[in-house]
Amino acid sequence: MTVEDFSLKLKARNSKLFYGKIFMSSKAMAALVESLMKLPGVGAKTAARLAYHIVEMKPDDVENLATAIRSVKNDTHACEICFNTIDAEKNICDICASDKRDGKIVCVVKDDKDLDAIERTGSFDGKYHVTGGLISPLAGVSQNDIHLRELIKRVRDEDIQEIIVAFEPTVEGDATALLIAKLLNPAGVKVTKPARGMAVGADFSGTDNLTIAKALENRIPV
Ligand SMILES: [Zn+2]
Repeated sequence: MTVEDFSLKLKARNSKLFYGKIFMSSKAMAALVESLMKLPGVGAKTAARLAYHIVEMKPDDVENLATAIRSVKNDTHACEICFNTIDAEKNICDICASDKRDGKIVCVVKDDKDLDAIERTGSFDGKYHVTGGLISPLAGVSQNDIHLRELIKRVRDEDIQEIIVAFEPTVEGDATALLIAKLLNPAGVKVTKPARGMAVGADFSGTDNLTIAKALENRIPV
């Protein structure tokens, strides 16, 4: 190897961008890896694998992927009643709008993911309320940061007889459930939670349909 070859190689190496042991020669690829690493469960290695795949994809497919990602942010908003994520052209979701759903019973969930997991089981015919989070003093999330005021208003305005708090069985989930019970008990509404059939810390999306359906059927008071 000549001195020039060596300095060229060194220059090339210095221009590469490192992510742990992963390195890339293009800034655009590195930026994509960095963005993908923000997704849950995606480390540098997986992000790099996806980025190498994306760069090989057909331009149309890449365009569709980018449009779909932008669209979930730009073309959706929260249902005015339950805070479920819906298409921007609607004001309320299909569940809130449906007269086939039992409005006397409302299942309170943390996010859309849990709502969809329960909905997928087909075993619940009431309505929902999405809090958008759980109370966590450690993470600085207080009761005013989640949609609890709106839930209390719904209990006041609608003919709701039972609230099922369907949170994951964690410290935050239990604390939020207890607070909801405390806030709603004076209104005379029954506050229940699904029976423990789910693994501690498991969320609904990672639990099978039968377990969710059974847990919802066998409710216990909070
Ligand atoms: Zn809704």
